[in-house]
Amino acid sequence: AFLARYAAHPHYEAPRGTTLHARSWQTEAPLRMLLNNLDAGVAENPDGLVVYGGIGQAARNTEALQKIIELLLHLDEDHSLLVQSGKPVGIVRTHPMAPRVLIANSNLVPHWATWEHFNDLRARGLMMYGQMTAGSWIYIGTQGILQGTYETFAACGRRHFGGTLKGRLVVTAGLGGMGGAQPLAATMAGAAFLGVDVDPTRIQKRLDTRYIDRMTTNYSEALAWVLEAKASGTALSVGLVGDAGDVLARLREDGIIPDVLTDQTSAHDPLNGYVPHGISLEEALALRKADPAEYQRRSIASMARHVRLMLSMQEAGAVVFDYGNNIRAYAVEGGVDNAFDFPGFVPAYIRPLFCEGKGPFRWVALSGDPEDIYTTDKALMEAFPENTHLLRWLTEARQKVAFQGLPARICWLGMGEREKAGLIFNDLVRTGRVKAPIVIGRDHLDCGSVASPNRETEGMLDGSDAVSDWALLNLMGNTAGGATWVSFHHGGGVGMGYSQHAGMVILADGTDRADACLRRVLYNDPALGIFRHADAGYERAEAWAEQFGLKI
Ligand code: NAD
Repeated sequence: AFLARYAAHPHYEAPRGTTLHARSWQTEAPLRMLLNNLDAGVAENPDGLVVYGGIGQAARNTEALQKIIELLLHLDEDHSLLVQSGKPVGIVRTHPMAPRVLIANSNLVPHWATWEHFNDLRARGLMMYGQMTAGSWIYIGTQGILQGTYETFAACGRRHFGGTLKGRLVVTAGLGGMGGAQPLAATMAGAAFLGVDVDPTRIQKRLDTRYIDRMTTNYSEALAWVLEAKASGTALSVGLVGDAGDVLARLREDGIIPDVLTDQTSAHDPLNGYVPHGISLEEALALRKADPAEYQRRSIASMARHVRLMLSMQEAGAVVFDYGNNIRAYAVEGGVDNAFDFPGFVPAYIRPLFCEGKGPFRWVALSGDPEDIYTTDKALMEAFPENTHLLRWLTEARQKVAFQGLPARICWLGMGEREKAGLIFNDLVRTGRVKAPIVIGRDHLDCGSVASPNRETEGMLDGSDAVSDWALLNLMGNTAGGATWVSFHHGGGVGMGYSQHAGMVILADGTDRADACLRRVLYNDPALGIFRHADAGYERAEAWAEQFGLKI
């Protein structure tokens, strides 16, 4: 009956309300979050079990998905479910404070960690790509990246434009699951925004969820709109259907140099992500199946052209940065030796936050009632009255963010703040001020959970960019501390061979047990980020360690 009602392919949906389907909230929570990842309002392609980020999946195939659901419905608190690349493979004896689900996705021994090897295994049904929050069941729709994108654009405005992006033109491409946050983040930061996507249905989804203001297939019309907005200092976002490189080439010809230029096409995956130029989207999709080698050749050549155009815009005065999709590395493969002449967004804007243990903390109301999120918003505003940045974000988010799937909120919190927030949420559940438990998690893109030399750990002070011990220690710390589910993935964000990262989700169900687990996990998790950055020699991290009495 459960499968018929909530989990029928392809109309997945998380149950709402206070009635348990599993044996306790400990297992009801991962069950709801797994189905939420696949909800049509959340996932980019629920039919293919694809949540976001190219082919980032929540489960390996429908059979594996249904088996995970069945097992979660029956799992008790003395056992934990093992999930290997989206397939349930066994149940182990554990204890009530242990994670209920232990997940490993897309991991390969380093020498074999290539897309070629992975795609072969995937084609034979042996693996799936977990991205970051797709396979670890804590994706919350485009909001999940919204605040981080907003922080990046705002930092860019402060650094280069005297404090604001008002009256500036931001150009980017890729308006998919994550990239779709760019238009709203840019207009929140005051900019005129032009976003290019080759697939009109992706831009339509941003219109439907109020992430973008306008859409057109006409280059001249898009340009007229954004130039007018730039001139009048109006915040406006426009989605233009087209190829990223083609539009940049035209802008260059027309002498239009953006103030800020970046990119969030799915460049991390040259076969199932990036779409090559010179052929229509339909032709590209057909070529992807018919001749994968030729598709990848064209894809890498297109990325090289795309990056050359970005470099030329940089030379002409644009502020250019890589937005975490690894396009520079593929451009190098395509022959652009100086692709790394523009920086990644982490060293450029985010690293100081990582030194404070800050990162994309998020939570979800399992009740499905938006009022529960508004209650948590209010509680945080009362708990952190001195944090004006946070207050402004929470106020704007309530006005501007349309929920996708179960109501959720993201906000970047650091050491000390996360633990405080978690205990407040547990108290809201305990005292019945919210209707059902709340799950708390984060992206794997966080201060202490990821090794990704072209993104989160690019240009570390001591050159330890590729050391992934830290990500494993983060996983072990959160497992030992009693997160409700934990995960370890490879290849998220930047593709096979380029990253290793850990995820965690923890339940606030109003119990004393949850208090104890929250105190450990929400202390250890950001502390790992501070350890990692202090160890690499960042003074800011050392100062934060001292402030919180961390034992380094
Ligand atoms: P997605 O697959 O949902 O969307 C990618 C979009 O790019 C699609 O809409 C596709 O149509 C478009 N596209 C592909 N080739 C194009 C081209 N040549 N011209 C124009 N549009 C093109 O992916 P997503 O979840 O939005 O993630 C985008 C990228 O950003 C991925 O590489 C992902 O790993 C990375 N990412 C970055 C961050 C970050 O914090 N910076 C976070 C998550 C993901």
